[in-house]
Amino acid sequence: MTRTSTDILISGGGVAGLSAAAAFGAAGFSVICVDPTPPVTSDTDDGADLRTTAFLQPSVAVLQAAGLWARLEPYAAALQVMRIIDAGGEVAEPRLTKDFNAADISDLPFGWNLPNWLLRREMVARLAELPNVDFRPGTGTARLLTRTGEALVTLTGGAQIRARMVIAADGRNSVVRQALGIPVKTLRYGQKALAFAVSHPVPHQNVSTEIHRSGGPFTLVPLPDRDGLPRSAVVWMETGPEVARLQALPVAAFEAEMNARSCQILGPLTLASRLTVWPIISQIAERMAGERCALMAEAAHVVPPIGAQGLNMSLADLTVLLDLAKAAPEDIGSAKMLDAYHRKRHWDVQARVTGIDALNRASMMGAQGLRDLRATALNALYSAAPVRRTLMKAGLGVR
Ligand SMILES: Cc1cc2nc3c(=O)[nH]c(=O)nc-3n(C[C@H](O)[C@H](O)[C@H](O)COP(=O)(O)OP(=O)(O)OC[C@H]3O[C@@H](n4cnc5c(N)ncnc54)[C@H](O)[C@@H]3O)c2cc1C
Repeated sequence: MTRTSTDILISGGGVAGLSAAAAFGAAGFSVICVDPTPPVTSDTDDGADLRTTAFLQPSVAVLQAAGLWARLEPYAAALQVMRIIDAGGEVAEPRLTKDFNAADISDLPFGWNLPNWLLRREMVARLAELPNVDFRPGTGTARLLTRTGEALVTLTGGAQIRARMVIAADGRNSVVRQALGIPVKTLRYGQKALAFAVSHPVPHQNVSTEIHRSGGPFTLVPLPDRDGLPRSAVVWMETGPEVARLQALPVAAFEAEMNARSCQILGPLTLASRLTVWPIISQIAERMAGERCALMAEAAHVVPPIGAQGLNMSLADLTVLLDLAKAAPEDIGSAKMLDAYHRKRHWDVQARVTGIDALNRASMMGAQGLRDLRATALNALYSAAPVRRTLMKAGLGVR
């Protein structure tokens, strides 16, 4: 039986796990990263992740340290304004529009948006440059045994890895988290998200727009132009049955529904990709770490896609882990380091899961009276400039 030793075993090669592999590899640690599902790196291939990720300002530093940002930046669309539209009146049309402009708090945009399939392509290419990173697509974590000094991971092919620290980035049903016996609290909404790309005649001007009516937000996030046409990524949240109905429509009928829901703020939208469907939950692990193991990303926390928080919280996890590891490399995976990680991250994660849950429930409201209350609350929050700036900073994760 082959038994290999490594500083860090990363279980999961989604966008979070690949980022972690690049960051720890660039910092000089030996890394093995495993994932049973090889990454799909072209938007036209089956199984391509057609979602996009808006990387908020604080996430860029860790991507730079990982040697990823220089590869990603040329493909990114900047997000200068976050626009919130309430279209919750009797008629589906904008009745309240509020712009949160990054210029109020910073010289930089709020963030930069990139397609997830492209992130995987560039991240896999970056790992190939790092001789101390061994990426093993097609192999997963099968079993985990931990003791005070190390973790022993058995992979699906039977190979065994001794690691000083395991990073669980293996998603919301994390095998590592389950092996550690760390419980999660899950909130279900009966809601799904449709994610797809559109082109439109009106330029987006780097404005990301959330339109609230009922069922959840309809969000348009800027993408770079393609074939001379402005494009945006759309995330459209609705109840599960409504998503099934929309998904089954012929393209012309789907476009008609999407144009009614978008209130045509960028003119008539044309579907520019297939539709992908994502189940929506909130979930939080009771602890961010167990013996010799750190949980990060969806293994530790899942939130509805509102305010571009999900992966940005994951990169905040990564930043803390990396800082602790660099400060005391001889100590990686120790109880002291992992306790510090839990303490530094869990409070922020809890606050964000709670806040996004509340925003999602407000956006789902169907009753007219509640929708009117939602518009009144948005208006009040926006009108007080200090509150507005505090909200923007909190959303970014900066003080
Ligand atoms: C519609 C939508 C839009 C979103 N938009 C944004 C956004 O704009 N900004 C943002 O910050 N976040 C956004 N998010 C959230 C973001 O996409 C997620 O946080 C992120 O993709 C989750 O990454 P992950 O790597 O934790 O999980 P996953 O992508 O689920 O990756 C987990 C990986 O673990 C692997 N795995 C499973 N089992 C094993 C095993 N036994 N061993 C090893 N590996 C295993 C899986 O194959 C998978 O590749 C969005 C989410 C949704 C649903």
